[in-house]
Amino acid sequence: MTETASIKNRTINKIRLTHQAELVERLGWLIRVRWLAAIGVSSTILAATATFDLLIDRNLLLLISCAIPLCNIVYYIYFKWLLARKDLAAWHWRVSFLANTQISVDLIILIVLVYLSGGAENPFFFYFIFHMIIASILLSTTASYLQASLAVVLFNMMLLFEGLGLLPHYRLFPFFEESIYRHPVYLLGLSAVFTTTIYLSVYMATSITRRLRMREEESIQLKDSLEETNRQLRELHEYRSHFILKVEHELKAPLAAIESLIVVILTSFTETLTPKVKDLLSRAEKRSHVLLEMIRELLELSRMQTADFRFELKSLSLEPILSRLLEILRAQAEDRSLSLETNLPGNLPEVLGDQKAIEQVLMNLLSNSLKYTESGGVRVEAVPDNGFVKVTVADTGIGMSEEELQMIFEEFYRGELAKEKYEGTGLGLSIVKGIVEGHGGRIEVESTLGKGSKFTVWLPSA
Ligand code: ADP
Repeated sequence: MTETASIKNRTINKIRLTHQAELVERLGWLIRVRWLAAIGVSSTILAATATFDLLIDRNLLLLISCAIPLCNIVYYIYFKWLLARKDLAAWHWRVSFLANTQISVDLIILIVLVYLSGGAENPFFFYFIFHMIIASILLSTTASYLQASLAVVLFNMMLLFEGLGLLPHYRLFPFFEESIYRHPVYLLGLSAVFTTTIYLSVYMATSITRRLRMREEESIQLKDSLEETNRQLRELHEYRSHFILKVEHELKAPLAAIESLIVVILTSFTETLTPKVKDLLSRAEKRSHVLLEMIRELLELSRMQTADFRFELKSLSLEPILSRLLEILRAQAEDRSLSLETNLPGNLPEVLGDQKAIEQVLMNLLSNSLKYTESGGVRVEAVPDNGFVKVTVADTGIGMSEEELQMIFEEFYRGELAKEKYEGTGLGLSIVKGIVEGHGGRIEVESTLGKGSKFTVWLPSA
């Protein structure tokens, strides 16, 4: 079987199961509603006989209305048994049988109650419409029309037999002339109105139900094909990440060799080189260094995007990490007469993170701040914040415009000024964002062009 055919089969199966689950759920609902209906019928009989001057036999009606809860007990037991035996052969058929039986028996009880309480005189025959709507929701279109036909046959038989005098007429109101309900024109009119109302209600309700079911099937199909497309996309993405990872590995070694060869020429043959060649070689060395850095960062990004990548989380104290990083950067800051300050409270909670990754985040933010600052300096602060540790790295550097701020976390994006004057790859912040979000944290940035920037990172407390 082809893959598409098997997906289609799976979808059809899913649709069938959804319909079955729906039928079962609605059967349960119908049984629950019937308990209320039983109470409703008995109370209506009691209230009507107590309030109005009616001719009906109250006790006989109450006795018959007892059939509603009694039948419901049987349905309930059978329904529970069916639920426990889903492996039964012809299970679906039994569920439909239960639904059909319930509605047919309800119709019979209703006609008996209506007949014994005035027949055509009793306006409660309108209640047949409820049963038709329930049938249309619960049953197939054919079964709904069959139930409608049963209601029509039962009602017309009652009118006919009463009309012909084959069945005694139970009067409801003392003020109605009995003969009116034997009048052929009245009976014909009533029969026609009843029959058309019942069939029209079933027609409308089944059309709406059918349309809803179609929509539901469409949405299941859509969901299934979306899931499939998603799976294929994930596979493709995974394949792409592995491919990039491989290519980057292959590029790294020769490029590192080229860079070290240039360094060797520059340092070992410095006397034999003309200033022009020296200048060209040091530019080549700088370029290959940036390229290597880019490959290293690309490798990092690709590695994070593979499906089997996991951060190795443990409790980390930020204080020693930050001191070590600042130590590394201090010489560079002093060379450029920039201040490098920290402000960490003594009781700073530990964070839950991957040590190397967290170091990379902080190193990236700090070295960016130093790189993009000409005067003033950089300040690092950390404070506990609602289950997180909030770290801010603020500088008095070149800053960024509003438009640049929207783009800086995108891969390879570099600001205008940054591109003009400073070396870089445009990948650092994408990695930072990936790491921070991969830890369940978040990163925000505020900046004013020419005044400075402030990066804030929230890392989850351990
Ligand atoms: P890179 O620094 O290698 O260009 P990043 O991804 O680290 O790449 O940063 C992307 C861009 O964000 C930078 O090119 C720069 O325009 C801007 N940027 C990042 N940090 C700062 C900062 N502290 N001050 C000003 N601009 C910054």
